[in-house]
Amino acid sequence: MPNQDDLSKFKQIIAKLPEEKRKLLYKRLHSLPASEREAYISEFVKKFYAPEKKEAPKKNPAQSIILGFIVALFVVGVLYFVYVFNKETLDGKFNEAFGLPATEPIDTSPVMSDIAGPEPRHFPTDTPTPVPATPTPAPIKLKEDHPDLTGLVIVIDPGHQAEYDHELEEAIPGTSAEKERATPGAVGVVSGAKEYELTLHYALIMKEYLEGCGAEVILTREDNDVNISNFERALIAVDNNADFFIRLHADSAPDSDISGVKVYVPSTGKFKSSAPSDGEDLAEKVAEAIGSTSLGAVQSNMYTGLNHADTIKSYQLVIGYLSNSADDALLGKEETAYNVAVAVSEFLGQ
Ligand SMILES: [Zn+2]
Repeated sequence: MPNQDDLSKFKQIIAKLPEEKRKLLYKRLHSLPASEREAYISEFVKKFYAPEKKEAPKKNPAQSIILGFIVALFVVGVLYFVYVFNKETLDGKFNEAFGLPATEPIDTSPVMSDIAGPEPRHFPTDTPTPVPATPTPAPIKLKEDHPDLTGLVIVIDPGHQAEYDHELEEAIPGTSAEKERATPGAVGVVSGAKEYELTLHYALIMKEYLEGCGAEVILTREDNDVNISNFERALIAVDNNADFFIRLHADSAPDSDISGVKVYVPSTGKFKSSAPSDGEDLAEKVAEAIGSTSLGAVQSNMYTGLNHADTIKSYQLVIGYLSNSADDALLGKEETAYNVAVAVSEFLGQ
């Protein structure tokens, strides 16, 4: 039995976690032999238990007044813009509310006398389109010939995260091989772009596109400041019974001349024999869509997230290499993210 103090702290910590995270934790705990759970719990408590925080220091009242003033100015500014852009509609509403005749649209023609004759005056019926005060991002445009992905569950894993987690986890099921739980990944050799930010950006665009095609899409993370290990990412895909698990990467190669699109597939599991040719096809489609070269598909047991998801169709898609200056530039283009999403939709839809 774990020490009662640790156990109660452990319960306090997990009570604050979101449901999903809590489940993962329980799963992890249950996968350990009973003899190791106590150590796991006390290690966990040591790492994450923080006594109740002290009250935040009081803000300087002068700062609050200045802040309040700035906010008020901003609000007045926004209201003014809304009023200017919607003046006519607002005037109409005001008149309607007070039973006044509707304001006429601006008319530059000479004023006619009331007794000018029986000819009724025709006013344009369309009201001017109000200009929104804040622009909303344009929705992703679907290609006319996009595939119908209704009924498919796709889990997309944006590779890496902002912070390292050097703790080790099982890399290959049933062996003693271990790897770090999470790393931030590569950095663009010229741009300085961070792989974990890039993969999330690509994943968000892909999610929107695939949902537009009718698929149900789940992301393993929607933020950079998370701590989700590669094993846990694989569990998300397996637990959701995904039809496809797409892991996105933009890695670093030891040789800066290496560039292109490469796909890794599991070397074990249910799709062991079909995975290489499917992976090859995915690499070719993506390379063609973004104007790059396909480096083909490779079966590998090097990746924890693939090894633990070999019961479903899993692909680790390296869209390009941040260690290569041409790939670095290509990966930074907005259209590349869109084109990858289109190519993946075509791969999934065939
Ligand atoms: Zn990577």
